[in-house]
Amino acid sequence: MVNSTSTICEQLFCDSVIDNDEQEFVEKTMTMNFDNKQQEQQQQESDNDNVYRRQIVWRNVIAMTILHLMAIYSYIYFGLDRRITWYVLFWPDILARISALGVLAGSHRLWSHRSYRARLPLRIFLMILQTMALQNDIYDWCRDHRLHHKHSDTNADPYNARRGFFFSHMGWLMVRKHPDVIRKGKTIDLTDVWADPVVRFQRRFYIPLVLLIWGILPTYFCHYATGYTMVDCFLGAVIVRYVLSLHYAWLVNSAAHLYGYKMYDQSMEPRENRMVVYASMGEGYHNYHHTFPWDYSASEHGWSECFNITTAFIDLCVWLGLAYGRKKANEKIIQKRIERTGNRDYHRKYYDPGTLADYSLGILSSYGFLFITWTLRYLINGQL
Ligand SMILES: [Zn+2]
Ligand SMILES: [Zn+2]
Repeated sequence: MVNSTSTICEQLFCDSVIDNDEQEFVEKTMTMNFDNKQQEQQQQESDNDNVYRRQIVWRNVIAMTILHLMAIYSYIYFGLDRRITWYVLFWPDILARISALGVLAGSHRLWSHRSYRARLPLRIFLMILQTMALQNDIYDWCRDHRLHHKHSDTNADPYNARRGFFFSHMGWLMVRKHPDVIRKGKTIDLTDVWADPVVRFQRRFYIPLVLLIWGILPTYFCHYATGYTMVDCFLGAVIVRYVLSLHYAWLVNSAAHLYGYKMYDQSMEPRENRMVVYASMGEGYHNYHHTFPWDYSASEHGWSECFNITTAFIDLCVWLGLAYGRKKANEKIIQKRIERTGNRDYHRKYYDPGTLADYSLGILSSYGFLFITWTLRYLINGQL
């Protein structure tokens, strides 16, 4: 069912479907380059491993610990208290997902991969959401992410999953960067990112923008809309929302590199992980994404075939005239790639449940955290 609908996607939603011999040539060349880079990287790694010693950055460890303790306290104080009406709990969740769009559709698919083009109003909107997510400014985010793709799962990868789940999830923020990350990071070309005045503006005024967009506005808006105190709103709409959105995003670097199906290229670590797809609104088709990083959907199919909220958002923006130039891999190229380097059984297993099951599970999982909270509230307070 899913395969047949990709043609519809190409006709209705995609601006450029890359499907010729040139594409295949590019793909082969990229693979050869990848092999050479891997050999070079492995040599470099064995040299560097001899001298590299992990250095914990205690300031970051303390900051992360305080942030998480505050989140637990905020969750109990804001989430489980009977003073707060049950539907207000949608607030942190909705804000977490809206800010995540700034990262997923913005710093990831637009600025890092240039998988589609966005007009100025959309770029400004995405920059505002990306600032609310507080995951470094767009320029730094793109450098780390391009490095992650170029040297995936090696010492030069900032979130190297070969160093374990915790390191790739959040541990990388608490230790000094591996020398390879710094050395290879300097070689990443970001001239196209820097050419965007929206990126330059954000980088120049990043701290005041963060204070305003990450902290002050969500707190004040929550206070204005619900009448709860500013402290309640800061804990719920900023702290809980921030920690929640961080873990949703971090799962892409950790779980999606360690658990799941390698459907398109078995020689690499990234995997298709359904739970990460649901947590990150469509970024868990990760084996596909590392195989075809320029595909605007970051997955083989569009949102009408499988759970992918970010792709739906980009398509909506195109429909509104705010975006254009979406790049999409052709079905034939994808099938050839599966035959050559992937695994068709895994592919079948993943897509067999169908679109309805995928969306049902996706929506249920997306609100799993809220369901747990409402259950706990009922058990503790005798009411939702
Ligand atoms: Zn990855
Ligand atoms: Zn990417």
